[in-house]
Amino acid sequence: MLGLMQDWPLLCHRVIDHAKEQHGNREVISRSIEGPIHRTNYAEIHGRSLKIAQALERLGVKEGDRVGTMAWNTWRHMESWYGIMGAGGVYHTLNPRLFPEQLVYIINHAEDRFLFIDLTFVPLIEALQDKLPTLEAVIIMTDREHMPDTKIRNPICYEEWIDDVDGDYSWKTIDENSAAGMCYTSGTTGNPKGVVYSHRSNVIHSLANGCPDMLGLSSMDRVMPVVPFFHANGWSLAFSGPMFGASMIMPGMMMDGASIWELLDTERVSTTAAVPTIWLMLLQYLEAENKTLEYLDKVIIGGSACPRAMTQAFQEKYNVDVVHAWGMTEMSPLGSLCSIKPEYAGLDGGAKLDLQEKQGHAPFTIEMKVEDDEGNEMPWDGKTFGRLKVRGPAVSSSYFKEEGGKILDENGFFDTGDVAHIDEHGYMQITDRSKDVIKSGGEWISSIDVENKAVGHPDVAEAAVIGIEHPKWDERPLLIIVPMEGKTPTFDDLKEYLSDKIVSWWMPDDMVLVEEIPHTATGKIQKMALREMFKDHKLPTAEVA
Ligand code: ADP
Repeated sequence: MLGLMQDWPLLCHRVIDHAKEQHGNREVISRSIEGPIHRTNYAEIHGRSLKIAQALERLGVKEGDRVGTMAWNTWRHMESWYGIMGAGGVYHTLNPRLFPEQLVYIINHAEDRFLFIDLTFVPLIEALQDKLPTLEAVIIMTDREHMPDTKIRNPICYEEWIDDVDGDYSWKTIDENSAAGMCYTSGTTGNPKGVVYSHRSNVIHSLANGCPDMLGLSSMDRVMPVVPFFHANGWSLAFSGPMFGASMIMPGMMMDGASIWELLDTERVSTTAAVPTIWLMLLQYLEAENKTLEYLDKVIIGGSACPRAMTQAFQEKYNVDVVHAWGMTEMSPLGSLCSIKPEYAGLDGGAKLDLQEKQGHAPFTIEMKVEDDEGNEMPWDGKTFGRLKVRGPAVSSSYFKEEGGKILDENGFFDTGDVAHIDEHGYMQITDRSKDVIKSGGEWISSIDVENKAVGHPDVAEAAVIGIEHPKWDERPLLIIVPMEGKTPTFDDLKEYLSDKIVSWWMPDDMVLVEEIPHTATGKIQKMALREMFKDHKLPTAEVA
């Protein structure tokens, strides 16, 4: 027997319809690429999205066509997503921090017909366009006054183009399982692979993640996604913001400490989200300029592990709650958040910080398990680690054009490539990427744990730990440190500092100071590059072994 409820497809453009109807006046504030702060609201964004859909259809966009966006977080980027999806197209976010060859590969692989770009990326597209045969026109997201004199073929001035249509348009009615968006993984090994979100997966993911134990969004919130929309589906904030009626504040291209602080303060942001690197810059700015965070309640930190010292600084010095989050492009992207369940409600001080080093528990819609290499499920005891696998309605079932072949196991679970353990209350903690674990004497050392402890030292700005070959132990950890400006911590300083924070056999065998640690296009430490840099490094312990 079937249920007798309405068939109301879960379509992403219904989110912006809802925002217009229920939260039409809610502010959407952006630092524009042209410079000034721009203010609009969901009602206006809704109207402009309809015009974008209408104008795209006039250009010839058909259902399933990919339309690239290479843009910072602004109202224009957000409304272009809704316009593209509403015309039946598929937004395809492009990370401008990728190497040009990777961008060429991705745009061609996705067969993008049109591109929306910010002014910042005009020179890049001028340089690449001859290698992009599927590209028919480029929409430059600015007004006539700021249109550059460009060599781009078929450049379109965004504001003029929108003004050319009347907005008398109805969204395309499509199957909720149709593609809505695309984002390529960074592809540290092999070519980047295309993750394809559906309307249904985006809507379900945003619903699940807006709930109180997750992002906890409401119409009283003022949310600032600092994480760019081009990083892992923008952590779904372009959907969950309007879905829950929160005001949105967007930083455009200015993500330095001073610019972020200015928006947090003048626009009274209550919740914000980004990777640890951004928060490191903000915390350094607050310290140097003696500033406070008067309005901010909550900061969501993910993409790489949030160091304990960062959580402590936000909570104890600035009175801002930290919510550690984990996810990946293939998961739409959020998979877990470290909010507090009743079992842990009594924790404070160091015990609470211990808990917050974990990446947290999964929302409804994510099933999670940890397996050993033979596929045996590991107990939820908070210490036995293995491969982390996930299953759910917003988790990839395969990559675009079946690149990489079958990606699910026989039970439909996706191997995240992360190594983790889960405790009795469902709190998961990542100990490493499976390819970065350090194998010492048959046991695994968590590089993430050692790194997070090391950055707690006052003279350390950033830390990375990699495995170096060792004649006796296979591998031993090397600690790589970027010191705070003007400081030169010694290996003895770090050993003493770490001695009561990690087990003795995890203690690095050596330490080097570097000016900079290489990062990927999404701000993660490039362990592969570090292993290459230090492949000839001789550990002092190797001599005596
Ligand atoms: P990329 O394209 O950089 O791989 P993703 O965001 O898809 O972008 O990367 C996902 C990976 O990032 C995860 O599999 C995990 O290894 C890492 N990651 C994300 N959040 C965290 C976190 N809070 N702690 C540790 N690692 C994290």
